[in-house]
Amino acid sequence: MFLDPTKAVAHKLGYADPAALILHLPLRYEDETRITPLRDAHLGDTVQVEGVVEHSEIQNRPRRQLVVQLSCGDSGHLYFRLLHFYPSQVALLKPGTRVRVLGEIRPGYFGAEMVHPQFRVVRENTPLPDRLSPVYPSVAGLSQYAIRLAVEDALARVDCSDPLPAPSDLPEPLPNFAAALQALHHPPPDADPADPADLEAREGPAWRRIKYDELLAQQLSLRLAARHRQTLCAPALPEDGGLEARLIAALPFVLTEAQGRVLREIRRDLARPQPMNRMLQGDVGSGKTLVAALAALPALAAGHQVAVMAPTEILAEQLYLKFHEWLQPLGVGVAWLTAALKGKAKKATLLGLAEGSIRLAVGTHALFQNDVSFHDLALVIVDEQHRFGVAQRLALRTKGAQVASSEPLVANASGDLPLATGHWQPHLLMMSATPIPRSLAMSYFADLDVSVIDELPPGRTPIVTRTVSARRRAEVVARLRDYCLGGAQAYWVCPLVEESEKLQLRAVQESHAELALQLPELKVGLIHGRMKADEKAAVMGAFKAGELHLLVATTVIEVGVDVPNAALMVIEHAERYGLAQLHQLRGRVGRGARVSACVLLYESALSDTARRRLKIIHDHNDGFAIARADLALRGPGEFLGAKQSGQQMLRFADPLADADLLELARAAAPGLLEQYPEGVERHLERWLPRGLDLFRA
Ligand code: ADP
Ligand code: MG
Repeated sequence: MFLDPTKAVAHKLGYADPAALILHLPLRYEDETRITPLRDAHLGDTVQVEGVVEHSEIQNRPRRQLVVQLSCGDSGHLYFRLLHFYPSQVALLKPGTRVRVLGEIRPGYFGAEMVHPQFRVVRENTPLPDRLSPVYPSVAGLSQYAIRLAVEDALARVDCSDPLPAPSDLPEPLPNFAAALQALHHPPPDADPADPADLEAREGPAWRRIKYDELLAQQLSLRLAARHRQTLCAPALPEDGGLEARLIAALPFVLTEAQGRVLREIRRDLARPQPMNRMLQGDVGSGKTLVAALAALPALAAGHQVAVMAPTEILAEQLYLKFHEWLQPLGVGVAWLTAALKGKAKKATLLGLAEGSIRLAVGTHALFQNDVSFHDLALVIVDEQHRFGVAQRLALRTKGAQVASSEPLVANASGDLPLATGHWQPHLLMMSATPIPRSLAMSYFADLDVSVIDELPPGRTPIVTRTVSARRRAEVVARLRDYCLGGAQAYWVCPLVEESEKLQLRAVQESHAELALQLPELKVGLIHGRMKADEKAAVMGAFKAGELHLLVATTVIEVGVDVPNAALMVIEHAERYGLAQLHQLRGRVGRGARVSACVLLYESALSDTARRRLKIIHDHNDGFAIARADLALRGPGEFLGAKQSGQQMLRFADPLADADLLELARAAAPGLLEQYPEGVERHLERWLPRGLDLFRA
C-alpha cells in the first residue's frame, strides 16, 4: 500500500507501521511562501531572498567553506556560506544560477550574509509554495525532503476520516481530524486555524483537535482496561478468621481514623470475586505498612499466598521485619526473597512458594523472576509503587495472572490481551507516598481505585526544617555532636552524584571519613548502594539497635526506612535533589516522640529555581502540597514513573494544560464505547497501534 521509501522513512523514525507517519507532526515551519527584497530585510530576520549567483569559491580560512556571492538586483548583494557541502552543490552553485535562500540575516565582513541557509535552485518564475514548509523531527541521515515525501504518501493513502462523532460541548468549533492534519502538515501562511506562532506553540484549533483525539484514545483504552478487569476472576476474600482483631489488639497504638477507612475500602474490594486494583496513597509516615499487613489477613486466613514487593533491598528488609513482628504471633511465617538470597536458602524458599507452604513472602522484584512460581497467589502488594517502571508493573501483573491461572495470558497480534472470561488474576494493592494530583490520576490511572490516608498518627512532632549554607558546616557538625551525645541518632545524607556511580561512592566515603574524624566521640556508620545486601542489613541493624549514633548514607535510605529514635537529618547539597526525594528523605525523621529536625545544607550561589525549590521544602511538611508545587516546577514525569520506563504515554496532549479536553474526553468515552464500538476500535488503531498494555500496567 505504501511506497517503499515511505516504509523506509517510517522505520528509520521508529514506526512499525507507515500509517503512523500521519501523526509525525512538524516541530516548526519555514516560510518559503514569500520573497523579501534584500533591502527590506533587517539584521536578525529570517527571510527568503532570491538572487543569481555571481561568484562562488571554496575558501579554507578560517575553515573550509563554500562562499557564494548572490546578486539580488537593485537590492544589492548577499553572501552566504556553507560549512558542510557536497561536490554536487559546488557544481550547482555556478555563476548564473538562480537560487532562493532562506536563513537569518547576519552582519558579515562584506555586508549582509547568511550562514548555512536552506537554498534551492529555481527558474525565473518558479511559483512560490502557498503553504508553510514543515520541519519534522528527524534522525541522523534522514533529510527533511525525504520525510516530507513520506508523510505526503501516508496522508494520501491512509483513511483520515473521523471514526467517531466530533467532540461536542466545546466553546470553539474544532476541525475534523483530516482537516487538522492538513492544517498541521501544510499550514497556509497567516491563516486562521493555523497561525504559525500557534502551531509552533502547539496551540490553536488544529492542535486542540489532535490533542483531544489523543486524550480520547487514552480514555477509551482505560475504560476498556477496566471492562477487561471486570471479566477477570480473583478469589473472593470476605473473612479474616478473627486475625485482624488479634493483630489490632496486640498493637501498642490504635489505628488512625484514616487507616480504618482505607482498610474498609480495601476489604470491600477483596470480598469481591474480581481482582482489586487499588492505589493506597498516604504521606510519608502515615502508616501504610500496617494497612498492608492488615490487608493481607483475609487472604492468609483463607489459606492463600500473599507477595509483598519493595523497590530496594533495604526497604524489603524493613518490610520483612514489620510483617514478621505483626504476623508471626498470628502463626503466619514470613519468608524473604531478594536477589541476595542464594544457594540452599533460596532453594528452600522457592520450593515453599511453589508448594504453598510459605504463605507470605516479602522481597524485591526478585519475587517475580522466572525461577519463582507461586502455588496460590491471591494478593500482590507493591510498596513505593512509583519507584517501579511501567514495564516492571506490567511484568508483575502478567506473572500474577500466570500464577493464578496456570494458563498464561497470551497477547494477540495487536498486543492486546484477550477479553475472554475465566482468567485469574491476584488482587493488587499498590502503595505510594508520592501523591498523584487528581488530574493525572484521572488521566493515567482511570482503571484504578484510590484510597488516601490523609492523617498522620497522633503524637508526631512536626519536623523543623532549616536551610543552612554549606559555609556553616562546622557549626552543623558541632550541633550534631551535642545532639547525638544527648542520646538521639541522626542521618547524614551525602550529595547526589547522578552522573557517576563511582563519584557517588567516593562522595559518600569521603563524607564518612571526614565525619568520623571530626566526631571521634561518636560511632559513625556508613551505608550505600554498592554494599552487599548482608552488609547493608548489618549496618541498618546496628543503627536500629542504637549501636551507631550517626549513619552516613546515600539515598538508599530514601524510602521506607523506619528508625523512630533517629530524629535529625542533615542533607548535603540539598539543592541537587528533587522535591519528592527531599520529602521522602526528610520523612525518615519525625517518626518518634523526639523533636525532629532536617537541615538542608546548600552550596551558596543557588540558582533561582534551586532557591524556590528549597523554599517549598522549607515551607511545607505536607507531601500533597509539595507535590503540587513540584508538578508546577517540573512536569508530570516524576509522578508516573515514566522516566524510569522511558515510555512516553502522551505525545501531544498534556493532562494539566489540556485539562478541559481531558474532561471532555473522559465524559465522552462511555457513550462512544456503547454506541460506536467499531469506531472506537478504529480510533484506537490510529492512536495506539501497539496495543493497550501500557495502560493496563
Ligand atoms: P509509611 O506510610 O511512610 O510507609 P510506616 O508504615 O512506615 O509509614 O509507618 C510509620 C511509623 O508509624 C511506623 O513506625 C509505624 O509502626 C507507626 N504507626 C503506624 N500506624 C500508627 C498508628 N495508628 N499510631 C501510631 N503509630 C503508627
Ligand atoms: Mg512505607
